[in-house]
Amino acid sequence: MAGNRRAPPSGMTPDPNRPQKPCRKAPRDTPVSVFALPPANGTSIWDLLHHGRPHFRSLTENIEVDLAVVGGGLVGLTTALAATNAGLRVAVVEKATLASGASGRTSGFVAPSLRPLPGGISLETVLGSDGARRFRGFAVDSGRMVFDLIDRHDLDVPTARAGWIEAAHTPDAFNRLRRGAGHGDQVLCADELQGITGLENLHGGVVRANSGAIDPKAYVSEIARASAEAGAKIFENTPMEALHFGADGHAELQSSAARIRAAHVVIATNGASRLLPRLAVAVMPVRVHQVVTGTLPEALQTAILGGGHVITDTRRNAVALRWTPDGRLLTGGLVLPSFRPASTEAARFYARRLAAIAGPAAERAGLTSDILEAQHIWHGRIAMTGTGLPLLYTPSSAVTALVACNGRGIALGTALGMALGEAIADGLKRGAGRMDFSALPLPATKPRPRPLRYVSGFGARWRAALAEIFDRHETRQLAKPPSNKATTSRNDKHERNE
Ligand SMILES: Cc1cc2nc3c(=O)[nH]c(=O)nc-3n(C[C@H](O)[C@H](O)[C@H](O)COP(=O)(O)OP(=O)(O)OC[C@H]3O[C@@H](n4cnc5c(N)ncnc54)[C@H](O)[C@@H]3O)c2cc1C
Repeated sequence: MAGNRRAPPSGMTPDPNRPQKPCRKAPRDTPVSVFALPPANGTSIWDLLHHGRPHFRSLTENIEVDLAVVGGGLVGLTTALAATNAGLRVAVVEKATLASGASGRTSGFVAPSLRPLPGGISLETVLGSDGARRFRGFAVDSGRMVFDLIDRHDLDVPTARAGWIEAAHTPDAFNRLRRGAGHGDQVLCADELQGITGLENLHGGVVRANSGAIDPKAYVSEIARASAEAGAKIFENTPMEALHFGADGHAELQSSAARIRAAHVVIATNGASRLLPRLAVAVMPVRVHQVVTGTLPEALQTAILGGGHVITDTRRNAVALRWTPDGRLLTGGLVLPSFRPASTEAARFYARRLAAIAGPAAERAGLTSDILEAQHIWHGRIAMTGTGLPLLYTPSSAVTALVACNGRGIALGTALGMALGEAIADGLKRGAGRMDFSALPLPATKPRPRPLRYVSGFGARWRAALAEIFDRHETRQLAKPPSNKATTSRNDKHERNE
């Protein structure tokens, strides 16, 4: 992101005359200035950075189009852009403002890979061996599609293209990463990794090909601008309230003020929708918090991830870290169960994490770890499907729903949205009712209701807490010198073998 960083706004640079305390890990009860924080879920850092985005009026009159897309996030807008470029008359309707859902609240990592599926199930079990190979290939290529889209349409989106690093927190994890490295991935040993990230205690990593980060709000806004310029009609502040399946093969959407008649409707609402109750009960909404520091001194921006990479690690409760274009460190994830309000807990937990990860580099740069405190916090919802894979659902020949999230939804959502838009354009040209989604890398399936979905959303926090305990245990074990007893018995065995 180095090339895209703006100069720190005046007033946000830490006072150079402030006495410098020695840097240390924040103790357990370090008070974090959470009361100074804006309320969680309010604006994301991308809202604060983003000025001059296009605004679109709400829909007040009845219209007829080839394709109506419900949802102004990255899935809906990439579908709309691809379909518009393929010659369809397209309308997009968003209930609030574009990117006000998950898309505008993300960390912006372009991470073209799949998260492990829940319950340790293999992709082969869900999709079969051919399907798994095809889907993996599609996911790996999805990062390239994000950056291609930005370049092809000349989108004004701050990007970090040096790459996304998956870093190993144990030697075993490094071996797994190394074995799984694909074409174009760059394997880094521990020293090389520390050299380019400035971060300690990592055991090597892999820089994934065609990966990196974007400003997600700018990304969605710019795709909307490109779609509108290509002829798509976009409406904000237009919640859709009902969906009717017409007898003539068309579908009809209804808001409080207007109707849209369409040959095909795409529901791209990240699972949340009363339009398709079956879809809504099939996804588990999981709340993810994001935390940023204030704008940090240039010295630290050079010392940590100064080469412009973004990083996550292989811990079960993974650490994610990147710079924002205005020089703040961004991290976040699930909030562990606590009696404190979730945003207070997130600020406390992630400030301590930042101090542990970035504290040593801050110390080397002559800074104190209190500059790593959270200054802004927000949250968003990811929509976990039962399989952990994106969900393509076709309740009728005129309606398709796509939930593209597996926690790494930016690259995959873009690639699936583009593929869906093109497939619908092909299908409508062949004649309504003759949709063929075989170009998409996953089959359409019937969503299965998840009766405990709200409870299991809370369960995700407990699982994160357990993961944290395992992770800490693992890293403590690594830090321990090998015990004499173990060394002796190994030596004895060695001698006996000789
Ligand atoms: C905090 C957080 C961090 C994340 N970080 C990353 C990351 O770093 N990298 C990554 O790859 N993925 C990340 N993800 C996942 C990624 O953001 C999502 O997969 C992706 O943005 C989903 O896009 P979407 O278009 O499906 O959904 P959304 O962006 O949520 O869009 C759905 C839209 O539908 C609208 N809508 C809903 N109902 C209606 C209705 N009835 N009428 C009209 N409009 C309606 C909503 O207002 C919303 O704007 C993160 C997610 C979260 C929450």
